[in-house]
Amino acid sequence: MADIIKLLPDHVANQIAAGEVVQRPASVVKELLENAIDAGATTIKLVIKEGGKTLIQVIDDGVGMSATDARLSFERHATSKIQKAEDLFNLHTKGFRGEALASIAAIAHVEMHTKTEEDEVGTHLKIEGSTIVSQEVTVTPKGTSMMVKNLFFNIPARRNFLKSSQVELRHIIEEFQRVSLAHASISFHFYNNGNELFNLPSSNHRQRIVNLFGGKIKEKLVPVDEETQVVTISGFINKPEYAKKSRGEQFFFVNDRFIRSPYLHHAVVSAFDGLIKKENHPGYFLYLTVDPASIDINIHPTKTEIKFDDEHTLYAILRSTIKHSLGQFNVMPSLDFDKNQNLETPYEYKDKLVQQPKINVDSNFNPFKEEMLRTNYRPNFQKQSTKGWESMYVGMDSEDDEKEADTSITYESDTITGSIFEGKKSNFETASTTFQLRRKYIVTTIKSGMVVIDQSRAHQRVLYERFLKNITIKGGVSQQLLFPLRLAFTKSDCAIIQEIKESLITVGFVFGTIDEEEVEITGVPLSVPESEVGMILDQLISDYQQDFVVDGFSQTDVLSKTLSKSLAVKTGEILDSDSQLALVNDLFACKESGVSPFNKPIYVTITESDIDKKFL
Ligand code: ADP
Ligand code: MG
Repeated sequence: MADIIKLLPDHVANQIAAGEVVQRPASVVKELLENAIDAGATTIKLVIKEGGKTLIQVIDDGVGMSATDARLSFERHATSKIQKAEDLFNLHTKGFRGEALASIAAIAHVEMHTKTEEDEVGTHLKIEGSTIVSQEVTVTPKGTSMMVKNLFFNIPARRNFLKSSQVELRHIIEEFQRVSLAHASISFHFYNNGNELFNLPSSNHRQRIVNLFGGKIKEKLVPVDEETQVVTISGFINKPEYAKKSRGEQFFFVNDRFIRSPYLHHAVVSAFDGLIKKENHPGYFLYLTVDPASIDINIHPTKTEIKFDDEHTLYAILRSTIKHSLGQFNVMPSLDFDKNQNLETPYEYKDKLVQQPKINVDSNFNPFKEEMLRTNYRPNFQKQSTKGWESMYVGMDSEDDEKEADTSITYESDTITGSIFEGKKSNFETASTTFQLRRKYIVTTIKSGMVVIDQSRAHQRVLYERFLKNITIKGGVSQQLLFPLRLAFTKSDCAIIQEIKESLITVGFVFGTIDEEEVEITGVPLSVPESEVGMILDQLISDYQQDFVVDGFSQTDVLSKTLSKSLAVKTGEILDSDSQLALVNDLFACKESGVSPFNKPIYVTITESDIDKKFL
């Protein structure tokens, strides 16, 4: 048989390698920013057009390249950063693989202008799909400008796979945040479609965080500082009360490199144990400095995962350091007299007219109990009884219950035939025996025994189907707010809201202006109370960050899920008997009454024979 093995031509090999290095425009941004940092830049400018699909440009004032180096830099495995394998264990640079430029040039139109301090003139190089199109002498300042146009122009499948410009921009912002947080002393400018998105002067970590995430973050930060033989930890954690439903700001840097580490993340979360709710996430900006020889950065092609020699020790140190900072913070006085209250109100209420509160005298009203506040917006459930003490006995009033049970049992045996939930609606309408068990379940009788329904999941299902329907037929009913609500968000959160705005409108949200860091809301869906809008949007943003859903169908699905979860009655809420009944009826009118939107069972049935067995 003839020999069949051939070496792949370079441009093919480069395209294959590019698949690993360049997943999306944000990957290019990361590589170019890192190269600029490695080149010793003090000022870096990032210019983006259409989410990086048409243009990504990084301009630095670093060391630049000679004409020969400029050409060489696009070769695979061409790097100035390591020379031998041992150098891998003493890395002080971001790059070392010598792959990024070769990969990028294989799948885009690249133009480079570069000049060193010593050279009189610089080099202008044009490359398209690994082929050098032109090389000229040019007049250019010291440093390097890399322009990457038409990403994936020669791989249509990859290009089509790119998301909307807004989604790609969000990924770019994420990378930009990571790189700029790691290098606070370098000044960064970020222009998107001609507008300045970020202007970050050279500063320290704290100021950099504030410049990136807005002044409101200042009051949330608690400093962290610890020096041990193994590691130096510095940075900030967010105060526990600012923990959010969305993951939001969680950053680990090891030797000025952003890294992901579920293990160290766990250490931080466990330090917050008991201080924040289970479903909330702590925010943190933690900078770890370790001996480069004690880590291996080489295990991941995009270098966001690293291996530590002694993970366990690191875990323990990190956890106790965070605990210590939290402890110190707790003993500090919580009043800050320097604070200008007007500026620090979380939502812009300052333009709001003073409103006379509507007083509903209710001696049992407890303002700290969520359940009391949530009652009047459930679309289909009536207001719960104001007599709190009475509701405590719901389901315990044995005399009444027995009577009711008697009548309904008679009724059921007359009418219910066939499978238990067929023709169910009328059965439940007439079955007036429902009671609430431990503020969690609604119990009702059926012909063959009884059904125990998880109230929260049942309501989720009802709301979920209603929202889905509203979105599909674009029939969301909204209630206009008397005073528009202005909510502050980070820039990337605002970008997400922009993305999902259309779907939000279909369920009944009405938007005023959406700025870079503020969203104005003038109307909300009928069932959404004003006080929950911020929380709901937070949750939505976090769900989107996790799922990256963009196509129409899943967007409506995620939106409906999130809204139903946020708005459903919760375990622990008291429902009066009318509400219980309405919920049961609505549930069994649903298309899929058996499982919650999150695929959890909603009810169980317990038959008479199940009960009989217990009495054997
Ligand atoms: P790596 O960063 O892993 O070395 P790259 O492909 O990103 O690989 O870059 C190849 C080489 O090109 C670098 O080692 C560096 O010498 C040079 N280079 C790339 N970008 C710049 C820049 N902005 N300024 C100066 N030199 C650069
Ligand atoms: Mg590089």
